Order: sequence, then structure tokens, then C-alpha cells
Amino acid sequence: MDRKLRQNKPRLLLMGQRRSGKSSITSVVFHKMPPQETLFLESTTQIQKDSMRSFMDFQVWDFPGQLDYFDPTFDTTEIFSEIGALVWVIDAQDDYTDSLNRLTTTILNLQTTFPHINVEVFIHKIDSLNEEFRSDIYQDIVQRVGDELSDAGYINPNVSYHLTSIYDYSIFEAFSKVIQKLIPQLDTLENLLNILVNSCGMAKAYLFDIWSKIYVASDTRPIDMEVYEMCSDYIDVIVDITDIYGYNRNHEKVLGEQMQEAESSVTIHDGTMIYLKEMNQYLCLVTVIKNDEAKDKKGLIDYNCHIFQDALNAVFARAWEKDKPNENGEQE
Ligand code: GDP
Repeated sequence: MDRKLRQNKPRLLLMGQRRSGKSSITSVVFHKMPPQETLFLESTTQIQKDSMRSFMDFQVWDFPGQLDYFDPTFDTTEIFSEIGALVWVIDAQDDYTDSLNRLTTTILNLQTTFPHINVEVFIHKIDSLNEEFRSDIYQDIVQRVGDELSDAGYINPNVSYHLTSIYDYSIFEAFSKVIQKLIPQLDTLENLLNILVNSCGMAKAYLFDIWSKIYVASDTRPIDMEVYEMCSDYIDVIVDITDIYGYNRNHEKVLGEQMQEAESSVTIHDGTMIYLKEMNQYLCLVTVIKNDEAKDKKGLIDYNCHIFQDALNAVFARAWEKDKPNENGEQE
């Protein structure tokens, strides 16, 4: 990853035509707004820098759709130089020809000066489309963008596509994939999660950003949507309870620093156990153990999760040390 990018906080840029759903996505994912309430949101009319107090401290810049950001009067370096990913939102329920034209122009403009930027296309509002129609639209968009770019001589562009809706988990899943590409320590985190899962017989383990419910890493087993939803819902329950009865989360702490954490587990009717443990101010581990003996192994699970927590915070403490300016004000 680009060194400059790593030193500064990674930034996401959200773009797309007016009414494509940018404000709604920001509100639902980062401000916990119920999806139905987005019907009354004002459409984006100005650049909004939305600073997140989450683990990555990333920013979402919600751009107005009609803005010509490649106009010479616009400082494109200021906008694009430190961006990790450009999220392009397309309204799949509307005619998307204009949006695709602007997307391909943007990709072509960016590739010469900022080739490190990941372009992430959210094919959005898919909730009211049936399976067949979704896959047709997906194919159509991938094909048209690919053709346009290859006609312009750009082969193998750095573009990924996600089907999204604010009415289900797909938007969180898509953001998780986007964010994971921006985490330099992802391999280490996945390895640590794999070790944890294997040593405790877990079905799956996720490391969630508590605030947005985006998962920043998981073990490398295939994702089971049912398990994912269970974990995601469990965070809401625990966060609500700790907010009411627990400690104040709003004090500044360095990532990697140990803190007082919430821990909770529940065993449901079929013997499946969901286990949650906060790792630091921003992250929490949520795992699922589909095993009748899960209850009996609680001690082992507690112990291993604690070891995992130490390892995880050591990884971040090291990254933090590395990025901290030295006496001369330079970063190592
Ligand atoms: P913006 O101009 O890009 O910021 O678009 P808005 O966020 O204002 O969204 C425009 C409309 O799209 C609003 O009425 C939203 O409720 C609706 N919308 C946003 N996301 C979704 C979605 O995933 N599914 C559906 N069906 N509607 C959505």
C-alpha cells in the first residue's frame, strides 16, 4: 500500500449521481439511522466530510452527484491524493447510463495520477429486484464498464462490484470488503483469527468495528450469512446494554491500548453459542460455536480470546508506534 496513505488515516470517498443513495448509506451505516427514515433525507448538495470516530478513523466524503470535480478550478490532488477507496454508488432501479459514463470517465482520469485508488462500485437499491434481475444488472454493469475501459486502452482496471441495499446486511458486507483492503495488518489479523477458531472449535469469528458494525477481519472460512447476521445483531444488543449500564466509551484512547471491556455469551435453543468480547475501544470479537459442548468449553474460550486480545492489541500498538512521528517530526 502507498506509504503516504498508510501514515494518514485512510479515507473513503462516496460518489454517484443525485438520489443514488449516498446520504442514506452514510446515515444507515455510520449514524445508525433506520433505513425507512432515509426516505425523508435531503439529497446531497454539497461536499460533506464525515469524520468517523471508528477504528480506522476514515472519512466519508459525500459528494453531490452533478459536481464536475475534474474541472481545472477544482483541486483534485486535495481530494484524491490520500484516498484509499472510491465508492461509486449506482441506483440499480433507475436508468444508469449517465452514471456509468461518469464512472468510466472518473476511472480513466484517476488511473494516470492516482492508480493506487481502489474503485468500488456499489450497485445499489437491489432490494426490490428479484434474483434474476439483480444478476442481469450486475452482468450488464460489469460488461459495460469493462468494455468502455478496454476501448480506452485500460485493461485490468482496479474495480470491484458489490450488490447493496440499506434494507439488509449487504451494505455492511460491502463496506467490510472495502475497508479490509485498506488494512495493512489484515493478513496478521486473519492468521490470528484462524488460530483462535481452530483452537476453540468455533464455526466463525469476526472482528467488528463496534461503532459501524463493519467487520474489519474474519477467519478465512467461508462466510455463512446466517452466522454473520447473528453476530451483527448481538453487537447491537450488547452495545445498547453497555451504553445504558456500562462505562463511557467516549474517551480518547490509543488503538492498541488495553481497556475495560464488555464480555458476553448466549446459548440458543440448538446449543449454538454466540460469544462477544470487546478488544479495545473500537473493535470487538464476535464468534459462533456450533457445538453442544460449547458451554462446557467456556473457560477455554475465555482464555483463548484473552490471548487473542493481547496479540491483537500488540499488533496495533506496533503499527501505532511505527506511524508516530519521531523527535524530528518525521514518521519512521
Ligand atoms: P443521494 O442524493 O445520493 O444522497 O441520495 P439519498 O440518500 O437522498 O437517497 C435517495 C432515495 O433513495 C431516498 O428516498 C432513499 O430512501 C432511497 N434509497 C437509498 N438507499 C436505498 C436502498 O438501498 N433501497 C431502496 N429501495 N431505496 C433506497
